[in-house]
Amino acid sequence: MLAGYAVHVENSRGRRFHEPSHAYRNDFQRDRDRVIHSRAFRRLEAKTQVFTRRYSDHFRNRLTHTIEVAQISRTIAGALGLNVDLVEALALVHDIGHPPFGHSGEKALDAAMREHGLSFDHNLHALRIVEDFEQRYAAFRGLNLTFEVREGIIKHSHDYNAREHPELAEYLLDQHPPLEAQLIDLTDEIAYNTADLDDGYEAHLLSLEDIRGGVPVFGLSLSEVEKTYPDAPDKLKFNEALKRMLDRFVGDLITNTQMQVKRAGVQTVDDVRGHSGRLAAFTPEVELERKQAKDFLYKSLYFSPSLASEKEDAERVVSDLFAFWMEDSSALPHYYQEKAEEESLPRVICDYIAGMTDHFILEQHTKYCGEIGQS
Ligand code: MG
Repeated sequence: MLAGYAVHVENSRGRRFHEPSHAYRNDFQRDRDRVIHSRAFRRLEAKTQVFTRRYSDHFRNRLTHTIEVAQISRTIAGALGLNVDLVEALALVHDIGHPPFGHSGEKALDAAMREHGLSFDHNLHALRIVEDFEQRYAAFRGLNLTFEVREGIIKHSHDYNAREHPELAEYLLDQHPPLEAQLIDLTDEIAYNTADLDDGYEAHLLSLEDIRGGVPVFGLSLSEVEKTYPDAPDKLKFNEALKRMLDRFVGDLITNTQMQVKRAGVQTVDDVRGHSGRLAAFTPEVELERKQAKDFLYKSLYFSPSLASEKEDAERVVSDLFAFWMEDSSALPHYYQEKAEEESLPRVICDYIAGMTDHFILEQHTKYCGEIGQS
């Protein structure tokens, strides 16, 4: 069933520490399961995607977003003859390095680190989680994931420069990742562009007419739906139009990637790795539609005045706590005080904060810096 250009598990470069094979699961299936059983994965449930819990319990959080990315990725990988187990592991791990409070948290953490000449990057952080912070096994630190999963964590959404990141040399930075990893960034886009429209509509921050005007591909689907179901409630018309938009993106990614692979004459994973560019892509037409949807979401939702105060609070919570622990590292838990003897204090504080859930960091803020919004 697997295409020649798929990653075949028997050709995996393997794990850092040798482990006997499992009777019922191959190595990529085991990696997927190790991610699911990790603490960092469970904490995704209490991390903001776009909306905090203040809005509603049925909006996406980072865990349900992750599950949606995995669902979409499995469909696309299956249709392309790619390794579905590897794709699933990569999708489930793709956001594991995100700090609390979504992008506001990430921005504040990075800004705090930059004051010390350092930075925060969620992909690099994800690698540290699976290589070091997760402690589940007596024989080694981390999850001992296969090379292909670690490589995908680093390379799915970003091309790191080998000169700036000598520590990543083993991940073949001069080569593209396999198609299984290339897919993830695009399925992530499909998942959040559609889901954020859904949650934004449900939160009454976006109206049907706003979306129709700002996202032409949605507008076209909505006009079709209105003709077929003129009497349906607005929410169901909305759902139907959004589903058609999602299907269009997925279908386009499948057929266009197939065509690119064919046109490039790609037969093996090495061909994929050595090709001049990434092969997983939308057609230019759908790429434009994707960009329109994303631009609309930035303008009308992510930067909407309704979310502004919440984002400012989130940034303040992160920067206050960072500054507090920089001043008084004896207030850090013992484990992190010990780590600070081997690593720089800003890095240790950053790692601690990045692992927190939204409610845990708020609790810490109340404890050490006072209630947010009270000062
Ligand atoms: Mg994501």
